[in-house]
Amino acid sequence: MVDLIGQYQHIKSEIDSAIHTVIDTGRFIGGPALESFTKNLAAYLDVKHVVPCANGTDALQIAMMALNLQPGDEVITADFTYAATAEVIALLRLTPVLVEVDPLTFNISPEAIEKAITSATRAIVPVHLFGQCADMAPIMEIAQRHHLYVIEDTAQAIGAYYTFPDGKKQRAGTIGQIGTTSFFPSKNLGCYGDGGAIFTNDDALAKRLKMIANHGQSSQYVFDDIGCNSRLDNLQAAILDVKLKYLDKYCTARQSAAAYYDEQLASLQNATIPVRAANSTHVFHQYTLTLKPGTDRVAARKAFEQRGIPTMVYYPSPMHRQNAYKSPRYSDADFPISIRLSECVLSLPIHTEMTRDQQDYIISAAKDIIQ
Ligand SMILES: *Cc1c(COP(=O)(O)O)cnc(C)c1O
Repeated sequence: MVDLIGQYQHIKSEIDSAIHTVIDTGRFIGGPALESFTKNLAAYLDVKHVVPCANGTDALQIAMMALNLQPGDEVITADFTYAATAEVIALLRLTPVLVEVDPLTFNISPEAIEKAITSATRAIVPVHLFGQCADMAPIMEIAQRHHLYVIEDTAQAIGAYYTFPDGKKQRAGTIGQIGTTSFFPSKNLGCYGDGGAIFTNDDALAKRLKMIANHGQSSQYVFDDIGCNSRLDNLQAAILDVKLKYLDKYCTARQSAAAYYDEQLASLQNATIPVRAANSTHVFHQYTLTLKPGTDRVAARKAFEQRGIPTMVYYPSPMHRQNAYKSPRYSDADFPISIRLSECVLSLPIHTEMTRDQQDYIISAAKDIIQ
């Protein structure tokens, strides 16, 4: 699905030198590499504060801890997402409220958010799924009207731009009160292990986020709140600082690969190509086909596999059907779209190192297998 080794080969000397600088100086936790990456990422995103942390799940958890949400507070998020989003809400003894998604972009539906709001609702967590932004203008409008926080899960969409109706553009993750991301190796900006970050334009929140990520310490050995231990180490920061310089190039490479898939696969009778949201760029963390009902996905995946082509199903089950997140609050009848997507999505390989030959091979297989 990705080619991390091929990507490394192109920037090997820069990465190797960045790694050796960290080892040679013995500064593994906190230090120049972390400071440089944090500053450069803030400039790239055009956001005031970047708080690095250990992974994208921690980023979400720290974000919710910083907002002082209380047990029983309701947090609205998408039913069709990766589990981390719902998980941290439940872990903090908040109540996850799952809502339906848009049938075309697969992103959280603003109408469904509005319907799910109660007097206990405190926050909305839109997930910018597969590389394009959830519809942030109506989401921010709803949040303002109901005095709710917005935490954007940007693990799959770093680098994407959202365009507001007035033409103003903002990077994914910098629109709500807090944005979070993951640097898991296969993400669009991936390190060589685990990593994550939190973004905010709010000075007071930034201070709290930093404090919570560092055991709740306001200064050394002064513990003002219960926090956690969540750090991005210097080796990962040094690697990310090199890769950040190439992030726009990586986005463009994914977009060109997606455009070629689009051109070649638009004629498939039994599948539709990804729909581009009108108000967001798409950085194609995933290239996801929607199979027509009745198409045998299991057989299709097997046929791809026999030709040496990996495929993935993101995600095979909507969150409301998972044992951990079942709730008497809702039933299958509330999620026809999310259920249908879980039954018919199929992601093809897409990454920064794809060659025309590789894509032609996958395209001709798709034309044979899916038709
Ligand atoms: C990857 C991912 C996460 C979690 O990131 P980790 O670094 O693996 O903890 C959270 N949300 C979404 C949408 C993701 O894709």
